[in-house]
Amino acid sequence: MARDIKSIVDSLTLEEKASLCSGLDFWHLKGIERLEIPSVMVTDGPHGLRKQAEGADHLGIYNSVPATCFPSAVGLASTWDKELIKKVGEALGEEAQAEDVAVLLGPGANIKRSPLCGRNFEYFSEDPYLSSEMATNHINGVQSKGVGTSLKHFAANNQEHRRMSVDAVIDERTLREIYLASFEQAVKKAQPWTVMCSYNKVNGEYASENSRLLTEILRDEWGFEGFVVSDWGAVNERVDGLKAGLELEMPANNGIGDKKIVEAIRNGGLEEETLNIAVERLLTIIYRAVDNKKEHAFYDKKEHHKLAREVASESMVLLRNDESILPLKKEDSVAIIGAFAKQPRIQGGGSSHINPTEVDDVVAQIQLVAGNGTEVKYAPGYYLDKDDIDEQLIEEAKMAAQDAAVAVLFVGLPDRYESEGYDREHLHMPENHQLLLEAIAEVQPNLVVVLSNGAPIEMPWLSKTKGLVEAYLGGQAFGGAIADVLYGVKNPSGRLAETFPVKLSDNPSYLNFPGEGDVVEYKEGIFVGYRYYDTKQIEPLFPFGFGLSYTSFEYSNLAISDKKVKDTAEVRVEVNVKNTGTIAGKEVVQLYVKDPESTVIRPEKELKGFEKVYLQPGEEQTVVFTLDKRAFAYYNVQLKDWHVESGDFEIGIGKSAKDLVLKDSLYVESTNTLPLFVHRNTLVGDIMRDPILSKIANSLMEQFNPFANMQGSEGEGDAPEMMKAMMNNMPLRAIVNFSGGQFSEEMLEGLIAQFNDAVHQSIKQI
Ligand code: BGC
Repeated sequence: MARDIKSIVDSLTLEEKASLCSGLDFWHLKGIERLEIPSVMVTDGPHGLRKQAEGADHLGIYNSVPATCFPSAVGLASTWDKELIKKVGEALGEEAQAEDVAVLLGPGANIKRSPLCGRNFEYFSEDPYLSSEMATNHINGVQSKGVGTSLKHFAANNQEHRRMSVDAVIDERTLREIYLASFEQAVKKAQPWTVMCSYNKVNGEYASENSRLLTEILRDEWGFEGFVVSDWGAVNERVDGLKAGLELEMPANNGIGDKKIVEAIRNGGLEEETLNIAVERLLTIIYRAVDNKKEHAFYDKKEHHKLAREVASESMVLLRNDESILPLKKEDSVAIIGAFAKQPRIQGGGSSHINPTEVDDVVAQIQLVAGNGTEVKYAPGYYLDKDDIDEQLIEEAKMAAQDAAVAVLFVGLPDRYESEGYDREHLHMPENHQLLLEAIAEVQPNLVVVLSNGAPIEMPWLSKTKGLVEAYLGGQAFGGAIADVLYGVKNPSGRLAETFPVKLSDNPSYLNFPGEGDVVEYKEGIFVGYRYYDTKQIEPLFPFGFGLSYTSFEYSNLAISDKKVKDTAEVRVEVNVKNTGTIAGKEVVQLYVKDPESTVIRPEKELKGFEKVYLQPGEEQTVVFTLDKRAFAYYNVQLKDWHVESGDFEIGIGKSAKDLVLKDSLYVESTNTLPLFVHRNTLVGDIMRDPILSKIANSLMEQFNPFANMQGSEGEGDAPEMMKAMMNNMPLRAIVNFSGGQFSEEMLEGLIAQFNDAVHQSIKQI
């Protein structure tokens, strides 16, 4: 319905306008009865609905209405399936409609800087491209159902330790290329109705009052049209927040923040127009929710459970399959070991914790999928709620395992090990899980381990297992999904969206996580995840993008549409992928770009495209990628923009970041030059590398040798090269010293002016 929002704003009193800028309670926005402005509801998010019936809290302590629990973001990302994530979004949107929820508080697009972050399970990836693609599809799915999303936590909320006070100190290039890029495309391509600012400070200022983030970048650069909501309790100074671009404070502030806004306007500390604009943005979204509300909406719980099962099976990553132990054979008896098989860990702790509509019984599902003919035994092996080792439980588990043809062991991280609110301090499994694993391996060589965890763990025991499935936090249909994968009803197609390091200290953030006091410096810069491991040549336990299948794939015919392009053009990259095995399966085709020669420091490679394809045995398909400037660019802080350095770029098609199977290259030409403004201390080498300035310098050198008096190494064959190398590192002012009086200070000033004139001319021509 078309409404004149501006005139609605005009008809509100100052107090009414201020009141709209904070919540009514924990989950509702305020309404204004006399103008029939309704009070709408927002709830968590992100992988299911947490609509609390009564009571409210951050930590999922009070129960919420039943909702489908889909795999957590870490699992969603491991599917690498954009369409499937969109489907999950659609299902979430339907559930929100049915529960009269206007905005779902998710997805979370923070980067996994360290595997220790307690909330990694709620985030997609260590890679901003993958993360942003997943967020885009999640948002598109939810919003296609007329329900808003809240892309969170903007920005640089990469740890839980001191999350409400810590200052994330990040250099500009890293911020742009890694931490903001993870949000950027999702904002531009999917326009979330709302963005949630994070608790922490970013470079000295709380995200909730950071006008650079909330206004200059989010709105002015990226074109965000919705409103910004604070994370729950993230407001520091309400008026500063409003000025910076924070429209809504959540939860309710008991009128305190509203009063401050009114006072600031009355005493001239805040322009009323700032408040008007904020209210306009709030009302636009409130009415969008109202206009899109579907009466008598409902959803099919069984259908959503089926979707949860499909997604969970697609998210599981087969990490090891020695002697093709998987898929299991139905005729083999199987021992299911581990309390996680009776009470699976299907989701993470904290505000995303939801109340599932049903939860699969893992053992029952395995029996169902294997069939009645298969002998299935179960033994718990460890306590769920404590780390204590119980020899009796281990003995029983060993007996069950040795009597069976194969043992499937369910271990991982219990709830208390990782959650919103705190970080881990190590990457170990509980001792009672690891000891059980080692004990079972002693009596049963046919061992398959299934992991339930939200983030990487160290695996000193890896060689003792033949099969390993990373199942992450698989949601309510985890049981059915793992049964499907174990018995080959589903061919595993998940790929890691994060690197598993051999040991924690290999991780690039290790020396600076979680920081000192209230400051955490991101000293590893852009070298996050595989960008670091690959460049530094550190062998990971499992690389980014890795995952096995029950079939095999072959790649051929890598073709680039144009081998020499301007950075303003789009490039088409095609590659054929063929299923060369005997069963149908899905492959994730990954495209990485490398800049082999650059004047700035760049990672070994970066993910710039991926597609998941389903192929029957013998079937071949051509996968097409379109690359644009961003695929080749880095963020140039001088230009305050993305910049491509002219030169060759390698395109690698990979099965993972470590396994590039085909490579080709193309030349990309920059359409914007980086102006080099010259001063006394500009280096000769920098002048000589510049196409325009080097011409001036060369003609000068034809007239005389500016370094005539420089100490040379006469007699040595490579002296000219040495001289040149030495000269390259000399500042211009050194010409005066070394020219033997031929070049005066005045001449130097004249030369610098000539250089800078040429630079100005070249800028004008662009
Ligand atoms: C979390 C948010 C969540 C909010 C509401 C906060 O503690 O950081 O992700 O949406 O609570 O529950």
